[in-house]
Amino acid sequence: IGDHRAKDMLADLFRKYLVKDYKSLPVVVQEQTTVYDAVVTMFLEDVGTLFVVREEGILVGVVSRKDLLKVAIGQSNLHEFPVYVAMTRMPNITTIELEATMYDAARKLIEAEVDSLPVVKMVADQQFEVVGRITKTTITRLVVELDSLRNI
Ligand code: ADP
Repeated sequence: IGDHRAKDMLADLFRKYLVKDYKSLPVVVQEQTTVYDAVVTMFLEDVGTLFVVREEGILVGVVSRKDLLKVAIGQSNLHEFPVYVAMTRMPNITTIELEATMYDAARKLIEAEVDSLPVVKMVADQQFEVVGRITKTTITRLVVELDSLRNI
């Protein structure tokens, strides 16, 4: 088959897979968590991004490795600073919904130039509960999975 047909098929395939079936567990911290504890959580959970939530699991921010490095090089005591000084805040967060396709997720990751998207469920106007996580690794895993299905 021609190159164009193959590309159409690949894009169509990605549209068949849904975020709700591929999302991984979100790693969350509370707003008052210190920068120090956020760094420890990143190492222990082996993730590059933490989602910051209020008690009820409502998304308030996202904090990346570089956000924490930025605070760390400027401050002497990381126990004194809460993670909310470092995070990107709502409403400036790119999120994805459970029913969206993996193609939508891949496109949002590229357009927002970020490594990870919180998967959310709307609970009230402008209030989103964090229910999962899609990262560049999730997309890469799907590509590898599709290849291993090829010969079945
Ligand atoms: P890093 O900063 O470690 O390279 P990212 O590229 O994911 O990691 O993050 C770049 C910036 O974008 C950071 O300031 C981070 O807070 C922010 N960010 C990360 N994910 C999102 C998102 N889903 N929506 C909006 N901003 C985000």
